[in-house]
Amino acid sequence: MNYKGYKPRKLTRQNSSENRICSKCKKEKPLRCFYYHRSRRVYMSSCTECNSNRIVKYYQDNRRSPKVVFQLRSAHVRRTAKINKIPFDKSGLGKHLLELWQKGKGICFYTGLQMSLTGYHTNPMAVTVDRLIPKNGYVKGNIILCCSIVNRMKQNLTYNELLSMCKTLLSHKKNVKKSLTILKNSVNVVA
Ligand SMILES: [Zn+2]
Repeated sequence: MNYKGYKPRKLTRQNSSENRICSKCKKEKPLRCFYYHRSRRVYMSSCTECNSNRIVKYYQDNRRSPKVVFQLRSAHVRRTAKINKIPFDKSGLGKHLLELWQKGKGICFYTGLQMSLTGYHTNPMAVTVDRLIPKNGYVKGNIILCCSIVNRMKQNLTYNELLSMCKTLLSHKKNVKKSLTILKNSVNVVA
């Protein structure tokens, strides 16, 4: 999610002793400071530093565009899925998320409320990616978009387990109200 944490993938050939002038910063650097394009079999004209700066700038400039938001979100999903050994679609995830957003008009799957593209860590209505059946992973058909607050509540629950938890909360409402009154009175006594 964090473009500041972007690290370029090492595609360089470390063993070359040749130097080259970067087309962007015009500095002369060893060839290992340039990406090697495996399929085209050439070194890129700009150095890895300029290249990663360009990518970071692209994400900064476009961080509110749905395309970029879901590119970053899909990279995040793939990273966490890999770490947590959750199945996930290896390609086309960002495009799929963008389609879900456009088709669903940015409406949360569980609440029907309008979601926001920004404020991933701060906004309860920020769009997040959820697995309908958690164990099936981030695969097409099992992925839905929902607001951050419901996603955090749901954690690893299925939809039915989440509903059952909400019902329990509601049915316990009277008892909580009673406990709150007792709590309030005891605080008054102390004060
Ligand atoms: Zn450069």
